[in-house]
Amino acid sequence: MSVSDPFADRLPVDSLTPDEAGAELARLAALIRRYDDAYYQMARPEVSDADYDALVRRNAAIEARFPDLALAHGPGRRLGAAPAEGFGKVRHRVPMLSLDNAFEEADVAEFVARVRRFLGLDGAAQVALVAEPKIDGLSIGLRYEKGCFVQGATRGDGGEGEDVTANLRTVAEVPARIEGAPAILEVRGEIYMKRAEFFALNARQEAAGDKPFANPRNAAAGSLRQIDPAVTAARPLRLFAYAPGELSEQVADSHWGFLDRLKGWGFPVNPLARRCAGLDEILAFYREIGDGRADLDYDIDGVVYKVDRLDWQARLGARDRSPRWAIAHKFPAEQVRTRLKAIHVSVGRTGVLTPWAELEPVTVGGVVVGRATLHNEDDIARKDIRAGDWVVVQRAGDVIPQVVGPVIDKPRGPEPYDLRRALIPPGGDHPVCPVCGSHAARAEGEAVWRCTGGLVCPAQIKERLLHFVSRDAFDIEGLGEKNVAFLWERGYVARPADIFRLAEKDRRNPLQKLENFDGWGRRSVEKLFAAIESRRTIALERLIYALGIRQVGEVTARRLARHYRTYESWRRAMAAAAAGDAESHGELVSVEDIGPIVAAEIEAFFGEDHNVEALDDLVGRLERIEDAEAVSAASAVSGKAVVFTGTLATMTRQEAKARAESLGARVVGSVSAKTDYVVAGSDPGSKATQAAKLGITVLTEAQWQALIDGGAP
Ligand code: NAD
Repeated sequence: MSVSDPFADRLPVDSLTPDEAGAELARLAALIRRYDDAYYQMARPEVSDADYDALVRRNAAIEARFPDLALAHGPGRRLGAAPAEGFGKVRHRVPMLSLDNAFEEADVAEFVARVRRFLGLDGAAQVALVAEPKIDGLSIGLRYEKGCFVQGATRGDGGEGEDVTANLRTVAEVPARIEGAPAILEVRGEIYMKRAEFFALNARQEAAGDKPFANPRNAAAGSLRQIDPAVTAARPLRLFAYAPGELSEQVADSHWGFLDRLKGWGFPVNPLARRCAGLDEILAFYREIGDGRADLDYDIDGVVYKVDRLDWQARLGARDRSPRWAIAHKFPAEQVRTRLKAIHVSVGRTGVLTPWAELEPVTVGGVVVGRATLHNEDDIARKDIRAGDWVVVQRAGDVIPQVVGPVIDKPRGPEPYDLRRALIPPGGDHPVCPVCGSHAARAEGEAVWRCTGGLVCPAQIKERLLHFVSRDAFDIEGLGEKNVAFLWERGYVARPADIFRLAEKDRRNPLQKLENFDGWGRRSVEKLFAAIESRRTIALERLIYALGIRQVGEVTARRLARHYRTYESWRRAMAAAAAGDAESHGELVSVEDIGPIVAAEIEAFFGEDHNVEALDDLVGRLERIEDAEAVSAASAVSGKAVVFTGTLATMTRQEAKARAESLGARVVGSVSAKTDYVVAGSDPGSKATQAAKLGITVLTEAQWQALIDGGAP
């Protein structure tokens, strides 16, 4: 079992000891927080909704068995993720909550019974409910003052959301002005994307070399949460309004009445919403909507039931993360059976080799699918999925469907799938990347196989080139994502050395041709080439970092550079270590912070001839690789963690950082208990306050200077 496979079989909840339960709750909390951040902040989920929901349910089941162990800020208590950096924050005056989920009719019956018990209703009294499709988008609050739209916010963590006012102003269905509304009116609703418009957007994304979105929900979230409203304006976003937030006066007695008012003010309200007399009617509504779901032109993932009377809603109130007066009745993931014809492997932008299933085409969730993801080797082995099997395929909120498992009462494929063996080409003796033929490897503790030929593999090269030219690497201005994609797609640049070839004054080089393309005027081409030329001299640490070896970030690159001093000695030592020389390997792992895992990645990089050739090619086009400065071990700040904050008077922040690092200090971005010194310039801000709180030494610029010059702090 691999440590990074979150879905590996775990002990059943019933058999957990309290210690195991505590550890499992901590594991789930960390994992769910990570998935929440990916989903809510980046709109790039790492796992499917079905897998995510399974983790949440497991968390709830453990909490129910061991209520004392439930974490104060665990997944059962919080929702969403804090506002992302880059957006202004909006405090919600009325919290924006999530909804409780029901999966079975019995859960819905229990919800209605709970409402009745809470309100103390006798047997005869009916609880009218409004049933509405649960739109798969992202929730927003729209604030109107005196009829004018003044602020729009995302849900965030329910208490605080992101200010997306400017972006929402670009959404045609959000009214800019409304008539006859109270002085303060906040309307809650869902921003979503129609399916057809989503597919068209994805086609445009792909044509422009951008990553497509996994589903309409992520596309809507990613489009609304843009720093530049012009990007939002170009995206086909829509609105369904469905609830009040803050109100300066009451505008209706019932939820149904409120929906009517919304329509009157010109908000789009879902036309399928229905007022129902009780349990039987809402369940009938659920079945009806479920049956027609594939025909809707937008995605829904369930039905929401809301107690209609607003005075009852007020009495019922809310728990930590959801109101007591509403519940979401989720649709099961749509599943179908089909034949798995073959298993293939594709290579992602970061070199991950992902097995996928070629299917007998089948319709699921209104879309014809011919392929489905198989995640990774362990997942295939655990489910024992084989080529030739009949399999269950599901689409659960994702465009990319997944194979749930084989249908065991049908004839099975002849043999278990062996990914390692599948990666060995005929006549070969080791697994290779199916795209570039470099070695493929699965690192210890990892769930995935990767291609090690990062510098040459066409599947990864765009990403690698972008890293190569990025600020802390070769820092070539004028080579952004669009231009790199352009140069790569036209075949001008296939590996790092080609960037330097571009700028060479040769009649055959594409300089002349480049200016003929849109967006590449003569001046910008000249500027770009000047930028490239100026980088033919490069610091060793930048060169090492630029290679994009996994686990070798800026700090590790610097440590390597400082240790080996010159390019030649580093190159020689790495080649020897990769060839199995014990002494060179020993020296490599003796470098500060380099353990066996990092060493293995570096050795894998040098063990791949394709990379070494590409590296030699690159170095052949450089003028000079600057040796690294030696670290003075005797310095007073050697090994110390230092944070710079505020404006420094005698040097730039970058200079200060470089100088500190050359003296062996570690410069870090944020203050923690592990920080040794905080150097505060003018207007130091919260980091200095934080340091004072933690009792960390705060130095003025002059004191810092004295310290590094050999005095006492
Ligand atoms: P939710 O989406 O299950 O339900 C609450 C939301 O429903 C509300 O906030 C609102 O935005 C929306 N909604 C849609 N139509 C509505 C209507 N008519 N009336 C009221 N509300 C309506 O809850 P959530 O907290 O937003 O998200 C949890 C879900 O998100 C999970 O069940 C999971 O499927 C998914 N998720 C997935 C990942 C992942 O990594 N794949 C991570 C986090 C969350």
